[in-house]
Amino acid sequence: EPTPVTVLGLGAMGRALAAAFLEGGHPTTVWNRTPGRADALVAAGATLAADAAEAAAASPVTVVCLMDHRSVRDVLTPLADRLAGRTVINLTTVSPQDARATAAWADEHGIGHLSGAIMAVPALIGGPQSMLLYSGPDALFAAHRGLLERLGRSTHLGTDPGTAPLYDVGLLAAMYAMFGGFLHGAALVGTAGVPAKEFTALAVPWLNAMTLGLPAMADFLDSGDYRTDVQSLDFNAAAVEHLVHTSREAGIGADVLLPLLELIRRQVSEGHGAESFTRLVEGIKHPGNAA
Ligand code: NDP
Repeated sequence: EPTPVTVLGLGAMGRALAAAFLEGGHPTTVWNRTPGRADALVAAGATLAADAAEAAAASPVTVVCLMDHRSVRDVLTPLADRLAGRTVINLTTVSPQDARATAAWADEHGIGHLSGAIMAVPALIGGPQSMLLYSGPDALFAAHRGLLERLGRSTHLGTDPGTAPLYDVGLLAAMYAMFGGFLHGAALVGTAGVPAKEFTALAVPWLNAMTLGLPAMADFLDSGDYRTDVQSLDFNAAAVEHLVHTSREAGIGADVLLPLLELIRRQVSEGHGAESFTRLVEGIKHPGNAA
């Protein structure tokens, strides 16, 4: 028997979550602050609750997908008694500290709590590319895994409620820096009149191939031993200087590249020019005066 589930918050993401639960055959109760967001879900079989308290009382599990931590607090605080003995799974994007605060609040009121992070856009929810991260009690994740798998591939990252939101930001940081680099590359090649679509046809296989090097980089990071015989920081300093020089020659900005060059120069000036590119992580971990 599929577990009944409640979804609080029917923005773009909340609606996608509720639709995936319905698709999986879970009796689904929904609520949203502003009315009128639930019509398609109700047509697909969802039950619209009159208020958040009624929604919370309808299911053993409540999935929360609101704007931010503040909206989560506003909505959940008055529901403490209704939620006692039930489980709250918060998929709202929040900071690790905020996730821990919600978990502590839930604990005080006898409410089970998992914090989650959605590594997907609404259109991907329920499909093979959808990835969700969770942290909180092992037993709670195990108990609700079947339900959560309706939304996408679900990974449990340990018991600290702050871990899923921390991973979220780590993965997004990696993504944004890559996207920034992509925009820079498209703009640079675009100075020769090349449409971005043509640049992209080569950028995608290139970046895919380059990500295969990440596990080897992780070995440096985990060992803290940055000695290498290939592509030292001196080499990388020259390489990134060449990128900056070529960008300026082409008349475009180097804004995306300069922070990286700055990190490289700092490690070189501190005497680490012969070590691996991965040594830059030390400059990130110890920003010193530069940041
Ligand atoms: P939307 O802006 O579409 O929806 C926001 C929702 O929050 C609405 O249901 C809104 O209700 C509700 N809300 C905001 N403030 C309050 C409040 N004070 N009290 C009650 N309800 C409130 O956002 P999304 O659905 O796109 O995103 C929801 C969460 O999911 C965010 O934390 C986002 O970071 C996360 N997420 C979204 C992704 C995406 O691609 N969209 C990807 C990964 C995570 P109302 O309709 O009444 O305004």
